[in-house]
Amino acid sequence: MANKTITRIGVLTSGGDAPGMNAAIRAVVRSAKYYNLEVFGIFRGYEGLIQNDIKKLENRDVAYILERGGTFLKSARSQEFRTPEGRQTAYDNLKSHGIDALVVIGGDGSLTGAHLFYKEFGIPSIGLPGTIDNDLSGTDSTIGFDTACNTAIEAIDKIRDTASSHDRLFFVEVMGRDAGFIAVNAGIGSGAAATLIPERKMPVENLIERLKSRAKAKKQSNIVIVAEGGKSGGALEISKKVKKFLPTYDIRVTILGHLQRGGSPSSFDRLLASKLGVAAVEGLIHGKEDVMAGIINNKIVYTPIKRAIVDDKEVDEDDFRVAKILSQ
Ligand code: ATP
Repeated sequence: MANKTITRIGVLTSGGDAPGMNAAIRAVVRSAKYYNLEVFGIFRGYEGLIQNDIKKLENRDVAYILERGGTFLKSARSQEFRTPEGRQTAYDNLKSHGIDALVVIGGDGSLTGAHLFYKEFGIPSIGLPGTIDNDLSGTDSTIGFDTACNTAIEAIDKIRDTASSHDRLFFVEVMGRDAGFIAVNAGIGSGAAATLIPERKMPVENLIERLKSRAKAKKQSNIVIVAEGGKSGGALEISKKVKKFLPTYDIRVTILGHLQRGGSPSSFDRLLASKLGVAAVEGLIHGKEDVMAGIINNKIVYTPIKRAIVDDKEVDEDDFRVAKILSQ
């Protein structure tokens, strides 16, 4: 039975887009319909909420989006939502549509906004972790992370073909401003020579030692993965430092950039997003608010948003160890 106070749910995607956001929107719409609730799509995240870009959604509106990357609701970053006046306008627009609950799909910034909005106006809201960065607590994996890792590994496989044909040393920069999750997964999954992540500093001397010992072991190709926000600098910066120590090496840099955000979501992300979309609606129906739905050890978990956004999720020590052992 639906909670009497909730009749109309608004759903939006915010911040950087992530593969699987469409699958999550679809699951929110279809499960809301299943429970006889109305759903409104809010276009362009908080920006669209402030500009009243809101449209009622039916089941047919979310047909054929499960397999598509990006977000058909579009996403945006909104400076105005950071202001009390902007949030007041957003609230007024929600009320004018009779929307009494919100599902926000996005990263830590988007969920921070949702938490603030809840504190100010008390609209029941549930966050879904939609970011390729995997930097939210309260879920083993965020929506889009698995696809982004697959995309990165596929690209690195291709780079390895050219790296080994020409005996080149490649520095490949992957996304992850504050978190090395994609880098570590891509490092293990692609057999990288080293993985440099924001959470740890690797002195350039250590990297040189690693590369020299690989040369002695007659390794045919060397790929170093660098997370964009690495403490040692980005891929370009590190490659220049290394060139000074190894002037005879043929060094190239590839920045994977936005291609990591795109593409059809993996089966893992489709399942995760679908389960979490249903969990968001069922959570609202059961009176949950100001929480993020996630999956931990295969179970749906609701974590207070203010806990989920605390920046304390760390790359698993075991994963880092595995990456190191296998890079020798
Ligand atoms: P990703 O990191 O994956 O790109 P994100 O959700 O962290 O996604 P942000 O750009 O940090 O992306 O945040 C998205 C939007 O959320 C911002 O443009 C802003 O509208 C809102 N937001 C972020 N932080 C706050 C805040 N402190 N107060 C109000 N709104 C915020």
